[in-house]
Amino acid sequence: MSSSQPYLHKNSDNAKHPLSALVGVPKMEMFESPASWICQAALSQGATREEFAEFLGLRKQDDPDLAFVAGSIGEFAVRCGVPRAHFEFASYMFGGLASIDPNGERFLSEYQRAARYRYCPVCLHDSKVKHFMVHWRFSAWRYCPDHDCLMVDACKHCGEYITLPTDMLKGGFGGYGIASLDYCMACGHRLSSHWKQALGEMHRLHLGFAEKTAYAYGRAVLAAIYHRRVRYINNGMYHNVGLKFLINFDELGLIPNKDSEFPSFSSANGTYAGGG
Ligand SMILES: [Zn+2]
Ligand SMILES: [Zn+2]
Repeated sequence: MSSSQPYLHKNSDNAKHPLSALVGVPKMEMFESPASWICQAALSQGATREEFAEFLGLRKQDDPDLAFVAGSIGEFAVRCGVPRAHFEFASYMFGGLASIDPNGERFLSEYQRAARYRYCPVCLHDSKVKHFMVHWRFSAWRYCPDHDCLMVDACKHCGEYITLPTDMLKGGFGGYGIASLDYCMACGHRLSSHWKQALGEMHRLHLGFAEKTAYAYGRAVLAAIYHRRVRYINNGMYHNVGLKFLINFDELGLIPNKDSEFPSFSSANGTYAGGG
């Protein structure tokens, strides 16, 4: 297929694609991101992520999460034999973001032009089907409110950033493949191995006011996208404004969208001695 075509190829070529009638594709988990699901769906078909993305009509050069939600999720659901409803959370959130940040340049994490993810080791440990969540893609989302721990920047064992989608068939040590997304694609060690040490760490880190404020703003970004409104109080006055106002907050430096702003992000994300 030509790479110059838009996200979803609506021509009849798709119907003749060797992967046209799919069975056994896993459903998208409740808060799973498209980039994460593409990994699992490709693995279920013994396909590479490129083959699977091409089957969906997604172009290699586009952001996987934004391109997925810009496509026809109804058609994806039919062709993959999975419930459309499961795509709707990701579609709603990335769609909302795209209305103010069409390429995700301001709010989404990336590394070397690939979609980058942070993760909560406790969420990853607890999930039955290991997956990466929509909000983990957002640069501003720096801690997990469910487990009071910081989001992890990179694999604790080898220091590699997590970028998705990835080829699970070829990942891990020696390229022998990884069975689930809880394993590092680079070194094959378990990403959530230190989940017990991470649980509740926010209470032990003695964070300063600036960091606590930044975390709160980071969380508010996702709440604003969810509600399609920005609500804030200034000089005792309550304001309720459009989503675009998030750009103003970012330009004022209030949203932790840049990795270098808070040193404890990196120190707290250092390797845990004896993490097991
Ligand atoms: Zn968590
Ligand atoms: Zn690793």
